[in-house]
Amino acid sequence: MRRIAVVSYHSSPLVEPGLGDAGGMSVYVRSVSQALSKLGFRTDIFTRSDSGMLAMTEIFPGVRVIAVPAGPAGTVDKLSLTSHISEFVSGIRAFATSTRSVYDAIHSHYWQSGVAAADLAASWRVPLVHSNHTLAKVKNRHLPPGDPPEPDARLRGEERVIAAAETLIASTDDEWEHLACLYGANHDRIKTIYPGVDHALFSPSDRATARRALGLGEGPVLAYVGRIQPLKGLDLALRAVEQLEPALGEQVTLLVVGGASGPAGEREEKALRSLATSLGIADSVRLEGPRPHAATPTFYRAADAVVVCSYSESFGLSALEAQACGTPVVGTAVGGLKHIVVDGRSGFLCDSRDPSQFAGRLKTLLGDRDLARSLSAHAVEGAASFTWERTACELADLYECLVTERMPEACTC
Ligand code: UDP
Repeated sequence: MRRIAVVSYHSSPLVEPGLGDAGGMSVYVRSVSQALSKLGFRTDIFTRSDSGMLAMTEIFPGVRVIAVPAGPAGTVDKLSLTSHISEFVSGIRAFATSTRSVYDAIHSHYWQSGVAAADLAASWRVPLVHSNHTLAKVKNRHLPPGDPPEPDARLRGEERVIAAAETLIASTDDEWEHLACLYGANHDRIKTIYPGVDHALFSPSDRATARRALGLGEGPVLAYVGRIQPLKGLDLALRAVEQLEPALGEQVTLLVVGGASGPAGEREEKALRSLATSLGIADSVRLEGPRPHAATPTFYRAADAVVVCSYSESFGLSALEAQACGTPVVGTAVGGLKHIVVDGRSGFLCDSRDPSQFAGRLKTLLGDRDLARSLSAHAVEGAASFTWERTACELADLYECLVTERMPEACTC
């Protein structure tokens, strides 16, 4: 039986996604650990304790979340967390020593976890696998207006982790290229492993029932499911709705599921409210706030289309979840969305942030029932191959290979 130490410093898999720093990465860490446990792996997920106390919770058989104190109790913004990494590392070491926990490999998520894990991997002499989830150099190339660039500390941290990790996990071939071309990562050490989706939770079901549950009628419904921050570019969805309503001659409902995230999250939420008012669509936009992950399928199922307007998106789990529910995605042609959505077949991708292009694609979809049905069927078909079981199997093979051979180059083919 292999034991893996998973490091997820800034975001705990115990916290429901959709608010603050909890998003796709929390879903990823939780889902992969659960799938690995079914393959016989034991994982300890180390995260920062926000109560200031060490705490251990078993979330699935063989999967423990260990919250380690680092920095002050309570919420600490993600950037400030950087100064508490060494305390976090000491806490993990103390836990491992006192409980005699020994690990075969470490898998870290996001650069700050990677910095912590690089220290641990060196002293425990075990292989380090690292997933970036997002990359500063990519984000900085596609910054929303007014958003400050990612700090130098992050760029330096990412470079350090990329040099230290035996294997870097890319979630798509785009990310593979970014790691290789923007960061100069050794090609033999980058492995593309796609994230998955929980098909038991995200599956097609009756739209009318979902709409009734949400108090919606028969008119056109769009949904967005994710955190609210400038990077997600939701103003584009609002501007598209403004153009769509007169084009369709009826009111469109846009459901926004998720809460403010990051330093600019609350400002963004306020800006979206005032934008909706100034565009005259305040009655069409329903800011639903964050919803538990298990409640999100109802929103996907209720919608005619899910909109994803991100400036950059390393993967885009919500687009995959929408497709698994049979709801086509209309999104920006960025990052992982280009991999999840097949333009014209399972949804539409827009190559500009022009609201009229977005509104045009939405009008096409909403105005043609046969097309909508075909997009929906292809969306389900496209999502079918993405499963957490597959992600976990590929990771399990990688861990095994690294542990037994200690030759990362041989483990990425
Ligand atoms: N999510 C949720 N509740 C919400 C909003 C979002 O459970 O109120 C989940 C959503 O289902 C998805 C994740 O948060 O699994 C967002 O992941 P995505 O990759 O789309 O964006 P990220 O958070 O990684 O930027």
